[in-house]
Amino acid sequence: MPDLPPSTGGRLTGLGVSQGRAAGPVIRMAAPPTLPPPRPVTDPGAEASAVAKALTAVAADLNRRATAARRSPSTGATGTAAAGAGEAGAPGPDDASAGDEAAEILEALAMIAEDPMLLEDAESRARDGMDAAHALDAAFTQHREALAALGGYLAERAADLDDLKHRAVAFALGLPMPGLPAPGHPYVLVAADLSPADTAGLGPDVLALITERGGPTSHTAILARGRGLPAVVACAGIMDVPDGTVVGVDGGTGEVAVGLTEEQAAVVREDDRAERARLAAGSGPGRTKDGHPVKLLLNIGSAKDLRPGAEGVGLFRTEFLFLDRTTAPAFEEQVAAYAEVFAQAETVIVRTLDAGTDKPLPFLGLPAEPNPALGVRGLRVDRLLPDVLDTQLDAIAEAARKTGAEAWVMAPMVTTTAEAAGFARRARARGIARVGAMVEVPAAALRAGQLLREVDFLSIGTNDLAQYTFAADRQHSALADLLDPRQPALLELIAMCAEAGQEAGKPVGVCGEAAGDPLLAPLLVGLGVTSLSMAPVCVPAIREALAGLTLAECRDRAMAALS
Ligand code: PEP
Ligand code: MG
Repeated sequence: MPDLPPSTGGRLTGLGVSQGRAAGPVIRMAAPPTLPPPRPVTDPGAEASAVAKALTAVAADLNRRATAARRSPSTGATGTAAAGAGEAGAPGPDDASAGDEAAEILEALAMIAEDPMLLEDAESRARDGMDAAHALDAAFTQHREALAALGGYLAERAADLDDLKHRAVAFALGLPMPGLPAPGHPYVLVAADLSPADTAGLGPDVLALITERGGPTSHTAILARGRGLPAVVACAGIMDVPDGTVVGVDGGTGEVAVGLTEEQAAVVREDDRAERARLAAGSGPGRTKDGHPVKLLLNIGSAKDLRPGAEGVGLFRTEFLFLDRTTAPAFEEQVAAYAEVFAQAETVIVRTLDAGTDKPLPFLGLPAEPNPALGVRGLRVDRLLPDVLDTQLDAIAEAARKTGAEAWVMAPMVTTTAEAAGFARRARARGIARVGAMVEVPAAALRAGQLLREVDFLSIGTNDLAQYTFAADRQHSALADLLDPRQPALLELIAMCAEAGQEAGKPVGVCGEAAGDPLLAPLLVGLGVTSLSMAPVCVPAIREALAGLTLAECRDRAMAALS
């Protein structure tokens, strides 16, 4: 592709984590306000009226967004509450209902902000001498606790009160309201950082994401890639770019051209369209130039991510279905979500819930830990909450029965052979056809042969395997070089797993982000992996990369990289 056009505001560079190009005006997402120390109050009446003004402003803003969402279905996203529909910039068939759904959520939130009891409580605290921001904070906190105590659906809505509180407190402090913007037109979202839940809730009016922090294999980057949304992380200086500045974003190289004209922006968008069309023209199963088959599979978070052109699903990240849930998803709800995918894809590898670290699942209620990446996450949650895995395995088995699909399941963060054996026993007891283990911990790679005596396949999660091999937090932008999967130590672990697979005659795939990198994919094939699973947007480029090399050439690359 040609370079991004020259721009008046210069260039910023971060890490390109989701390929593709976009151009449009920047809108920054404000962070939730930090409550300053209480302010001495001289006029309680003025504080009480500031409280009322803040709540009215929050409700008015939400109602304005609801109207915009109804008018243009692509403008309704709100924090964790409303899910986006369709691909960025390309409204999908569900957009009208998504717009209505988003509008209804926004209107419901506005009603909470206008709740007379909430107003009365906050005003009375202000009249008793609290400043407006503290009065609002205290009233919202009280309401949140009351809702949480009621349990069920209402408890689930308690998290929405935090979002409203942040908005009201920000208004009272004279700061911009936090949360995802909804300007009513397509834009490039800029943030210091984004949570996976924020990213999952982005509306289709977001053209691209740029964050100041974040690592290449963080779950926010993964979610962006899953949606085909160009994304750049670790982009120093991006928060200084004023709202409305038109930028060009290259999610492959990590370049951001600041200050484009509308004509230049149109050129960037056209380059992107042409490149996507060129890549999408390829089809068929994954093969090297000399016909060695390599299954090309999809990484998905729900049925919405499915795209034609791949040979199945290699990683269904089931925790993405429930990121914003404060109550456990019921058995029937899980059956429906899994069955929806089984009904549309031939082979589906379902990963059981991988909660923890940057993907907290609030409904699990796990205790806070000092070092969460090394704590109770993935399969380890089973030590505290065995019912969660039992229910999920039951639901997967039931969904397979209902759809006639052959379910494959695998567990995240398997560390020992005993863990793999225990997981396999429980899955097989439910009639699940194929049981696997993810290799994300060096201990599991070192014992790949033993693991394969217990399970039918391995799937290498290079994102975590790199994190744990190099002792480098995958979300840390300053450690990206250590997380580079080209490092020989990581490649050696992958080679060990692939060799163990060949000896056992069982499949060993890669489902970490490395599988979707056109420079790395041939190398992984050269190391002996049998499938590559990636974000749907990556499939055409990987198919093209493999088709250009023989298996022997892939092996030469692997040998060169290892040495
Ligand atoms: C991985 O760790 O490589 C992986 C595929 O799992 P996740 O990115 O969801 O942790
Ligand atoms: Mg992982």
